Amino acid sequence: MQSDSAEENPKAAGGRDLAANDAAELLYRHATGSIGVSVVASTFLVLISWRQTAQAPLWTWWGLMMAVLILRMLDVRSWHKSRTPRNGSREIRHFGAGVLSAGILWAAFPASFFSTLNETGRAVATIILCGMAGGSATVLAPSQTLALTFCSALIWPATLFFLFSSGFDNRILGALGCVFFAVMAISSRLAHGATMRAIRLSRANEKLLATVTIEQERTEAANSNLKEAQVALHEANRSLEFRIKLRTSDLQREVSEKERYAKELAQLASTDPLTGLCNRAKLIEHLKARLVDAERSAYTLAILFIDLDKFKEVNDIMGHYAGDRVLQLAAKRLASGLPANAHLSRWGGDEFVVVMPDLEHGAAAECLGTILRLALCEPIQVDLETVNLDATVGVALFPEHGRNYDELIRAADVAMYTGKEERRSKVRLFDPSLSRKLTERRMLEHALHKAIPSEEFSLVFEPIMSASEGLCHGMEALLRWRHPQLGEIAPSEFIPLAERTGDIIALGRWVLREACREAMTWPEDTAPIVSVNVSPVQILSGSFVSDVFAILADTGLPASRLQLELTESVFVSDDSATTSVLAELRSAGIQVSLDDFGTGFSCLSYLRSLPIDSLKIDRSFIEGAGGDSRPIVKAILMTAQAFGFKAIAEGVETPAQAEALVLLGADFLQGHLFVPGPLPPEAAREWLALQPRKLLLGQKKRAHG
Ligand code: C2E
Ligand code: MG
Ligand code: MG
Repeated sequence: MQSDSAEENPKAAGGRDLAANDAAELLYRHATGSIGVSVVASTFLVLISWRQTAQAPLWTWWGLMMAVLILRMLDVRSWHKSRTPRNGSREIRHFGAGVLSAGILWAAFPASFFSTLNETGRAVATIILCGMAGGSATVLAPSQTLALTFCSALIWPATLFFLFSSGFDNRILGALGCVFFAVMAISSRLAHGATMRAIRLSRANEKLLATVTIEQERTEAANSNLKEAQVALHEANRSLEFRIKLRTSDLQREVSEKERYAKELAQLASTDPLTGLCNRAKLIEHLKARLVDAERSAYTLAILFIDLDKFKEVNDIMGHYAGDRVLQLAAKRLASGLPANAHLSRWGGDEFVVVMPDLEHGAAAECLGTILRLALCEPIQVDLETVNLDATVGVALFPEHGRNYDELIRAADVAMYTGKEERRSKVRLFDPSLSRKLTERRMLEHALHKAIPSEEFSLVFEPIMSASEGLCHGMEALLRWRHPQLGEIAPSEFIPLAERTGDIIALGRWVLREACREAMTWPEDTAPIVSVNVSPVQILSGSFVSDVFAILADTGLPASRLQLELTESVFVSDDSATTSVLAELRSAGIQVSLDDFGTGFSCLSYLRSLPIDSLKIDRSFIEGAGGDSRPIVKAILMTAQAFGFKAIAEGVETPAQAEALVLLGADFLQGHLFVPGPLPPEAAREWLALQPRKLLLGQKKRAHG
């Protein structure tokens, strides 16, 4: 049997299978009722027929019918219970077999029993058969073939019976049977069509429903995801806002801390840590601004350059701590004596600068200088000691003495120096006659800077003789500068200048290299040491030790043949740094001598800790070594002996001085007595060549011994 669904919907095998499944399901679901009706109808037929026909065939028919219906009932039950996957076409065929069996039995009834029944019996039987056929058109609608076959089985045997029976009425009934079959065929087709459409619709609905359900589930899932996402987003937003707030407050704190640091740094960068006054950089910045104002408003501005007198002695005698206290108190005194619009700063060391704007005339500035000087002259109490300070003040005015800060400060500085030199004016106003000095100094600074590359420097050498043997112990290297226009310039003039400008570092390096190189050319058997003067600025430059070692390595001079001469001032500025530099040099075998000894302050405890090998007694004491200065020289020599230092007497000009010094115990002598003046390198070599040989002298001594 063909699946009618396939006829109706031949489009897709999948669709066919689903339609066949649905058709089979409809057939089986409605089968119980139709089987029940068949039981009732067949039993009723037997009841109306049993008096008019032979009993045995009738009950046989009924028995067969019951058997078929019971089998169908069992089939329907097993279908209901079946859990196996549906196969619609096979189930329809199965179902159709039951229906056809019943249909054959229904067709057998008119064929077997109508001839024995009376008219009423036939009429009732026909009505029952037609009723059954009518019902089957609906019940079997899912399968049109089944419905038509079953209808045919129910209608055609009776119809044919009536058509072929005699009598007009029978023929009419036969014709009606044909018409009824035609109506049933049409209605079965319509019912089948409607059923299949309903199945398709239901399928489509189910699909739609499934799609809708899926979409709904998706939408719900999406909604819940959306909700979760919204919640998460909200949380993330809140946490972000919180973090932004935290970060913002952190940043604000950082910014304000940075601002504070920047302020502190700016403050530090512009403040002198000892006195709390503005430093040199801040002064220049302030002065530049005031000069702009002064230019615009055409008023007079004064610069007062204040230098404490003999502050070095305070430092030397009372120590650095007291020196610092004195500077602090001096700064306070100056600040308290200033008008409100004046600006005080520390220029460096014991130097202070006052900027006084808006002056009516220069005399007012001098007046202020006197007031400030008198304030400093008041005795200062430090650690139960009274310090009597004094100061020299140099005054320069804008616009007369300079138009920019540099010119003005230099002018005030020169005025102050002139005041110190003159020793009569403690407050000295710059005047045009000093301009030349200022110009000279500036020119000299400039010339000095170019002097090394221009090879304007040279060295001369002065012998240092051993007092006991009268042999040359060493040669002091002394620097000479011959300027092409200015001629010979004294070391006392250009060395302090080079120290101020910083050129001394390069210059000192050059001297050391030249001196060592020269010493290597001296006769080997005399092999005197070379003594080189070194500025405190060089010692504290940071590269001094490495410079010395590099020069020794380059020139090949043994460290034991090098002596460095330092003045006492080197120990004043920074004890620990100087001491460690000298200790490093001495540990390499280099000797250190304290130059100009006796001119500064040299207390005994201070001497004990100095990392030196010898003292050079200043020339000023040697002159009177045989007379006035004898006790001083004697004391110095005894001190040197006590501390294990060698003593060198410099500036020895006469045999009497030499004799006195030898008697007093000087180890070495130096001065014009031995050579008329320091010797140029060539002359020094020649002079050395004429000296008695140390070695020979030693051999002689041994021979005598
Ligand atoms: P100083 O180191 O005490 O040098 C001794 C000075 O006394 C030299 O003057 C020398 O020519 C002079 N002199 C030596 N014997 C006699 C004498 O019998 N009678 C007299 N009247 N004078 C004598 P100079 O060369 O003018 O040096 C002056 C100062 O300049 C030196 O004093 C030293 O402190 C400094 N100096 C010289 N050369 C250098 C150098 O290369 N580097 C550094 N940093 N300073 C140097
Ligand atoms: Mg010297
Ligand atoms: Mg000296």
